[in-house]
Amino acid sequence: MVIIMLGAQGTGKGTVAGFISQDTGLVQLSTGDIFRKNIKEQTKLGIEANKYIAKGDLVPDEITVPMVVEYLDSDIAKNGVILDGFPRSLEQAEKLDKILAQRGKKVDLVINLTTPRDEIIDRILTRRVCSNQQCKTTYNLKMNPPKVEGICDKCGSELIQREDDSNEESINKRLEIYDTQTAPLVDYYNKKGILRTEEISVRINRLGRQVADDIIKDIKG
Ligand code: ADP
Ligand code: ZN
Repeated sequence: MVIIMLGAQGTGKGTVAGFISQDTGLVQLSTGDIFRKNIKEQTKLGIEANKYIAKGDLVPDEITVPMVVEYLDSDIAKNGVILDGFPRSLEQAEKLDKILAQRGKKVDLVINLTTPRDEIIDRILTRRVCSNQQCKTTYNLKMNPPKVEGICDKCGSELIQREDDSNEESINKRLEIYDTQTAPLVDYYNKKGILRTEEISVRINRLGRQVADDIIKDIKG
């Protein structure tokens, strides 16, 4: 099974994907996380990708697509994946369709998360992530704070703010790229009849856990 998480920054893609992954055993593949791991380890891919990520730009397809293919073809992905952060453009979506078709697979479900924009900005600015690359749990200082300030509940490592989350300029640029490059995918997948849109917002008192639970129920049938 191949599931895609769609939605702007800060809507909760990673959080919802994490819950679904825990419950179903599908592996979560976050392109942003893979890039950040490579940046931390100063690999060739990481150094190259960081030129774009630090500015809030998309990493070129020549780097991103082969990296995704490598993961899709790896052993851990053989029972199915939840793609979190890929595809982000029509070109990437078309490439993914081709790659999957060559392997006798297809995208089964696209989960499109929506959140009012003012809530999103607030959520990104108050987002903190576990610095332990094996853990990477995400917290929110207001909605989902750690039990001890600055420390991960799960592994005890230090919580940090992502560099690209700390300034509004980079946040706004990423949201702008989302609107122009990624949002057209909503239509693309809707036409294929595989889109499921879910609002996550404090205003309607609906958060990631509930949305994930509803989806898990449907996946399990
Ligand atoms: P966010 O959704 O908050 O932008 P991510 O962790 O998903 O955070 O991605 C961080 C950065 O990694 C992006 O701003 C972009 O530069 C790069 N990136 C992630 N996924 C892709 C992709 N599919 N194509 C191009 N660049 C990507
Ligand atoms: Zn942790």
